[in-house]
Amino acid sequence: MSSVLTEKRFQDETAAFVYVEARVWPHGRVCPHCGVVDQSGALKGASNRIGLYKCYACRKPFTVKVGTIFESSHVQLHIWLQAMHLVCSSKKGISANQLHRTLGVTLKTAWFMGHRIREAMRDGGLSPLGGGGGTVEIDETVQGRIEGAPKPKNIKGGRSGYRNVALTLVERGGSARSFHVTGTTIAELKPVILANVAREAQIMTDQAAWYPEIGAEFASHDTVNHAKDEYVRREADKLVTTNTVEGYYSIFKRGMKGIYQHCVEKHLHRYLAEFDLRYSNRARLGVNDVARADRALKGIVGKRLTYQTTAN
Ligand SMILES: [Zn+2]
Repeated sequence: MSSVLTEKRFQDETAAFVYVEARVWPHGRVCPHCGVVDQSGALKGASNRIGLYKCYACRKPFTVKVGTIFESSHVQLHIWLQAMHLVCSSKKGISANQLHRTLGVTLKTAWFMGHRIREAMRDGGLSPLGGGGGTVEIDETVQGRIEGAPKPKNIKGGRSGYRNVALTLVERGGSARSFHVTGTTIAELKPVILANVAREAQIMTDQAAWYPEIGAEFASHDTVNHAKDEYVRREADKLVTTNTVEGYYSIFKRGMKGIYQHCVEKHLHRYLAEFDLRYSNRARLGVNDVARADRALKGIVGKRLTYQTTAN
């Protein structure tokens, strides 16, 4: 068995373009300027860049990189594919420093690539979890201090206020979806949960004060009492536990602590997207590293990030 990184798309720039084009344009080559399909021709010749086409409708040139996370990047596409493979196949993530050393790009470039790849991994507008009566476990955790917020002397009431809060929904045997929320009030959590979980779902949570009202919106709501050391309760027709979402957080926490270390709060949603994509496309669901990187590749379109929006 040879290293996956010896495959042609990771080594050869033309092969990388062919690979990305097949995924971005599965139904024909789309002009990113005017939107027409299959009305363009390759511009060949020594002076032309790899993967350059000219649209017959609007007369403008384009490559598959236009309008994607790769646009205006000086990094070669096959190096981008290596980076995406590394991010998608590393369970706890991969640091900018590691990408810098492995890929031979500058640290600053590696950091920017990491953020763009995370942006590609961000999923939008998906159907709700727990459709057809599936079980959805819901929990929240704190991750890092809110910038500039002083640590309160008395934090009795308070996960909210000075630390960033992540809310995660995990369908058992399925996907995870996480959100950076401003706090754990019902007003904050309820709209997010209602928008992302099907009403026919069976909800499982711990006994936090905000869940009874939210849980009443769903087919059923069961809780485990962590304060009394109850983590799993077997009932006639169901297993009441939040161990699945806790398992998600244990990977997330180990990654954020061990790999990323510093996460500025404005980037938290991107890190959550990264862990969500890997979790939702995990090996246990039959998704291998290559297929997982392909899922991320499908998300490159329309996710262009400028340097200004990610600086710091
Ligand atoms: Zn055009």
